[in-house]
Amino acid sequence: KEEKSLNFIEEIIEEDLKTGKHQSILTRFPPEPNGYLHIGHAKSICLNFGLGIKYNGKTNLRFDDTNPVTEDTEYVESIKEDIQWLGFNWANEFYASDYFEQLYAFAVKLIEKGLAYVDDSTSEEIAKQKGTPTQPGSRNQYSERSVEENLQLFADMRAGKYKDGEKVVRAKIDMTSPNMHMRDPILYRIKHAHHHRTGDAWCIYPMYDFAHGQSDSIEKITHSICTLEFIPHRPLYEWCIDQLEIFPSRQYEFARLNLNYTVMSKRKLLQLVNEDHVTGWDDPRMPTISGLRRRGYTPESIRDFAERVGVAKRDNLIEFSLLEFCVREHLNKVAFRRMVVFNPIKLVITNYPEGQTELLSSENNPEDPNGGTRAIPFSREILIEADDFMENPPKKYFRLAPGQMVRLKSAYIIKCDEVLKDDAGNITAIHCSYIPESRSGSDTSGIHVKGTLHWANAATAAEVEVREYDRLFRVENPASEEGDFKEYINPNSLTVVKGYAEPAINDAALTDRFQFLRKGYYCLDKDSNATKLIFNRTVTLKDAWAK
Ligand code: ATP
Ligand code: MG
Ligand code: MG
Repeated sequence: KEEKSLNFIEEIIEEDLKTGKHQSILTRFPPEPNGYLHIGHAKSICLNFGLGIKYNGKTNLRFDDTNPVTEDTEYVESIKEDIQWLGFNWANEFYASDYFEQLYAFAVKLIEKGLAYVDDSTSEEIAKQKGTPTQPGSRNQYSERSVEENLQLFADMRAGKYKDGEKVVRAKIDMTSPNMHMRDPILYRIKHAHHHRTGDAWCIYPMYDFAHGQSDSIEKITHSICTLEFIPHRPLYEWCIDQLEIFPSRQYEFARLNLNYTVMSKRKLLQLVNEDHVTGWDDPRMPTISGLRRRGYTPESIRDFAERVGVAKRDNLIEFSLLEFCVREHLNKVAFRRMVVFNPIKLVITNYPEGQTELLSSENNPEDPNGGTRAIPFSREILIEADDFMENPPKKYFRLAPGQMVRLKSAYIIKCDEVLKDDAGNITAIHCSYIPESRSGSDTSGIHVKGTLHWANAATAAEVEVREYDRLFRVENPASEEGDFKEYINPNSLTVVKGYAEPAINDAALTDRFQFLRKGYYCLDKDSNATKLIFNRTVTLKDAWAK
């Protein structure tokens, strides 16, 4: 087998290990606990944890919880569940908020070095003084403050002497830098807000750029991998580390994953939830990991997807159908085959003894030699799909039609003898006869038929609810369309139908995966109860989205 070429991050890591720059690698996944994880995060998880595994290193889970207003422990718990479900284990569970004292000390150190100052300007004034990318900015009088005064003011900020927005701490770097992030960026802001972990201990919070790199450094992260929009932050990341003289973590950027027919920012996903466009973060139509899990996606299929998407240096839009391809590939190997009729029409097998039921045996999964078999009852009255019968069929119609023969899957060959109708001309039942020697597995009839139909035994069929999903948005890239992205929601993303299933369905567990023959892949939904089983369609059998 051809060896897979390395992606650019792997190349860097292999070089760093070869030259002895690092003895071993340490990566991290740094979610902000302000929402549920989505498939884009799954890409980042697979990349970071995957590198840790591949190079015998480790990966930390670090909650980037420096923004008290939007964060919550509910999100922390869901993030941990999702990472574990994807199949990864973190070396350490850390929180940026655990470093608040250390980060405060780092800011003090910068002030002492004359590299940071307390600024009383409003955010509007600061923005104005910063200039524009083509116009240099300028410093104000506050930047002239002495080290002593800055230390005192910073201590007072921490002590709660000032209201939100009254003061900030800024790094003293370069107001003429072509990189706007280097024009005396804000390091600390005042926010009298309750934090989900530190409570009311702090009323000043570090900005992302003063928390992320330093947290990486505190943990001795060797390769800090983030998405492309952080490229302009990198000089500041390195400036802080250099000036503080701390462990030199390094930042590397790759293209974020974008999927068509959905949105992928937590802010937008939160709107879908809060405004009831979906039933929750784990609605099976959501691109969240919890939504995909509920939809029936497997960790294997998502890891395979992340691998196939690769590590790009340029943003692009990945086809949702690639994700579907991956889940089909995996489900084909692991899903139990079951027969479920959605829109039934009744067959009466007139030569089958009345009151008799026999148990037929069928493989759970022809792809899996250890998959075992299940028993399927068969008797005189059978349900088939109304779509599988035509009274006046065209040529080459191999399903059921007057005078024609088909095989009932794992059962017998039958022949259509008569069509019964009510006064209005609607078909009420189809009378057939079966060929007793044609039983699947011991067929001695010598008859060859081209069509095989799925079916259910009328007397024992379990009535189930089936939720068929379509894409959540009508357009490929709703975030880039004009106006509110929610105007592009597909109003028909959910269709609920009834199904009549073989009795083995009653043993379904939430972790089971099913292929409903000739229909698609399905899984049990958590809304099910003792009297009603509900199934979600994970994906159709074939690609219905292909353009
Ligand atoms: P969003 O913009 O969707 O709200 P975020 O970047 O704010 O996401 P974080 O919790 O900060 O969310 O992300 C944690 C990690 O996951 C970061 O390293 C981030 O770069 C990465 N990540 C987020 N979205 C994607 C994506 N679409 N593709 C790849 N990586 C992503
Ligand atoms: Mg982020
Ligand atoms: Mg965000």
